[in-house]
Amino acid sequence: MSDPEVDPVLPLLRCMHCDEVIGAYEPMVIETHHGPCETSLAAHPALYETERPCFHRACYAEARGDV
Ligand SMILES: [Zn+2]
Repeated sequence: MSDPEVDPVLPLLRCMHCDEVIGAYEPMVIETHHGPCETSLAAHPALYETERPCFHRACYAEARGDV
C-alpha cells in the first residue's frame, strides 16, 4: 500500500505530438530558445517542471515531417 503523503508523485510530462506520457528514460526533445535539444528526464529531472514543448524524439521528427 502506498501513502501519497509519503511517496512523492512526479508530475508527468506529456508529448505535444502524441499526448502520451514521456518516460524518464525515453529519449526526448525539448524546444528551447536555441532550438531543439535532445535530452531525457533521467538526465535532467528539472524538466518535469518545464513549460516548454516536449516531444518523444521520434514524435519530434514526425512532427517536423522528417520521417
Ligand atoms: Zn510522442
